[in-house]
Amino acid sequence: MPSLTPSRSAKYDPNVTANPDTASRLAGIGQRVTATRKAVLDAMGSTPGPFTIEDLCAALPGVGRATVFRTVKLLQEHDVLCRVVLEDGGVRYQLSTGGHHHHLVCSQCGSVQEFADSRLDALIRKNARESDFELDGHSLELYGRCNRCRSSSD
Ligand SMILES: [Zn+2]
Ligand SMILES: [Zn+2]
Ligand SMILES: [Zn+2]
Repeated sequence: MPSLTPSRSAKYDPNVTANPDTASRLAGIGQRVTATRKAVLDAMGSTPGPFTIEDLCAALPGVGRATVFRTVKLLQEHDVLCRVVLEDGGVRYQLSTGGHHHHLVCSQCGSVQEFADSRLDALIRKNARESDFELDGHSLELYGRCNRCRSSSD
């Protein structure tokens, strides 16, 4: 039974390369660039892969937890940061490449790849409509093993 908790030292290249220009990211979503926000984004950008809020707090000893939480929420609301629910219910965060997308979550190494499919989104909206459900949004996580993990074992 493989561990479902990805180790921070997991060896993989992040599939998502964070935009190093954190200031422009904040400006791009119409947010003031404060030193704290920039520090939080910098810490996210330098974390090699999906991270927990605890990881983030540990990387930012000078920033209060409440501030870290608030910034995470803000960035999440503006699609700068993805909230990824793992198969075991744990939650990880990862900088988004931008735009609406879904996740392929590897339960072995913990990597999170993005994929987008407008046909899938259209189908989801259609299903909501047909169930007389007013849709506010959706997230989709696919669980399994990534190409790298499959080729490195068996
Ligand atoms: Zn994402
Ligand atoms: Zn993997
Ligand atoms: Zn979607």
